[in-house]
Amino acid sequence: MKTSGAAYTFLAIAARFYGAYAAEKSALLMIDVQNCFCEGNVTSTGEDGSLSVEDTASLIPVLNELREEKACLFDSVVRSQDFHPSNHISFGPTHGLDPFSHLAGKGELPLRCVSPASGLMMDASCCPTYHVDPSSIDCETQLCPATTTDAVLEAPACTICQETPEECFDTTQAMWTNHCLQDGDSDFPSMLNTLSTDVIVQKGTGTFVDAYSAFFDNTQRLKSELDNTLQNMDVTTLYVVGIATDYCVYYSALDALKLGYKVVVIEDATRGIAPETVEAALVDMAEKGAAIVNVADIMAMECPAKEVPSPASSSAITVGIGSHNSILVAVGFVLLAACVMM
Ligand SMILES: [Zn+2]
Repeated sequence: MKTSGAAYTFLAIAARFYGAYAAEKSALLMIDVQNCFCEGNVTSTGEDGSLSVEDTASLIPVLNELREEKACLFDSVVRSQDFHPSNHISFGPTHGLDPFSHLAGKGELPLRCVSPASGLMMDASCCPTYHVDPSSIDCETQLCPATTTDAVLEAPACTICQETPEECFDTTQAMWTNHCLQDGDSDFPSMLNTLSTDVIVQKGTGTFVDAYSAFFDNTQRLKSELDNTLQNMDVTTLYVVGIATDYCVYYSALDALKLGYKVVVIEDATRGIAPETVEAALVDMAEKGAAIVNVADIMAMECPAKEVPSPASSSAITVGIGSHNSILVAVGFVLLAACVMM
């Protein structure tokens, strides 16, 4: 059997035509609402999270209310989870540095990174540039590691970027507290309303590269499974909430826009680290195409018609799509039969 080019063309057009009619869905993308980023009055242990963000105590009830009152707006709920192994590259103490030392005047820690042959985010690797090529770093003006440990030097990038520098590229890394450890406080607050059907996407699971975005790691070379998962669910619109407005919410929203999603950031259902970077993030997200709204705007939204269709519109939509599909299927069968006979 051979299939003609005309048949391929027809099937491609039919698939696109059908796609336009496929239901477009929405998801609530809840970024990093975990014990590690929350204040003690909402964490499961009652202790402040390992990288506690201000005013998160008031965030959880807002998120719960959104889900309780407006579940009809979200065909699915995705929760990202920062999920680090010990000695993670984003931890200041991994490099003998104080948490937040990137704010002390020298900027973030320079890194040299390599894309893994496996293409897996888990295998991505960065090494402090100081360990790869010390002569290229001026520790008077740039942040340098204060210690050198085997745990850091085990990063494949530390070897690869010395031997074959052309395979590597430069980036920088902020220095955080040890946070969201896989065997620590990376779980979700018990006060947060969740369902077993929620999709959970873990990030920052590899020791040698960080991931602010739920879609890509910080090298921007490797994708998590989130984009595929959303596509498989026909999700085209993302309502983004969570922590932190100026880091993981920001980078997730930008990546979602790049990937073609319609992005709605619910500003007062996010919490940020610093007012000036929060403001800059909101401005940039809006400039790049995100809608910035408030919880009140969402509460004022009607449930989509598809959830509570009127009898008239329901039958009209069903008949319209049904007859359209029938024609496509019938013509498709005729063309395929013709291909078989050719
Ligand atoms: Zn992290």
